[in-house]
Amino acid sequence: MTVHYHRGDLPSDVNLGALVAIDTETLGLSLTRDKLCVVQLSSGDGDAHIVQLDRSSYDCPNLKTLLADPGTEKILHFARFDVAMIKTYLGVTLAPVFCTKIASKLSRTYTDRHGLKDVTRELVGADMNKQQQSSDWGADTLSQAQLDYAASDVLHLHELRAKLTSMLEREGRMEMAKACFDFLPTRADLDLAGWPETDIFAHS
Ligand code: MN
Repeated sequence: MTVHYHRGDLPSDVNLGALVAIDTETLGLSLTRDKLCVVQLSSGDGDAHIVQLDRSSYDCPNLKTLLADPGTEKILHFARFDVAMIKTYLGVTLAPVFCTKIASKLSRTYTDRHGLKDVTRELVGADMNKQQQSSDWGADTLSQAQLDYAASDVLHLHELRAKLTSMLEREGRMEMAKACFDFLPTRADLDLAGWPETDIFAHS
């Protein structure tokens, strides 16, 4: 595994293919308070690219082009949060998306454990170290421990997508999952527009 650390933008000579695992790190979990700091990407080859964003300009044309490219499918875990963050700070709609958390909820109905660590342990057999999760992602220079942690969040998503796709197809729920993935930009817009905790389809 090689972790590539980029400041500002993804270099133009990096080609990650048509299926890219993505994650983000922020200063916190609030969409209105906390800034986007880092975007991690992997093509599924075991390497990771960590892009530390310039939080004064968010000037990263190569990264924005990739995130918005309709020909590149993006794999994320709990994409709802990342879609909203990327819309807010980078001004692009992340699509098309495969969300491994939605896929897990629609296929692994024998459990209520759908966190990335739990799903990865069961379906990939890998143990994820979550120690750096709440570290300072706004630091001027990211530590090696932060880079390794950020990379680990995108390294198993391709395998998870493959396993979860088989389970969704086995249970006849792939079309339902796709419809949920397609709704993500609207769900993120609702979060950003002031309905973060509301099930807009609920009766009351
Ligand atoms: Mn992460």
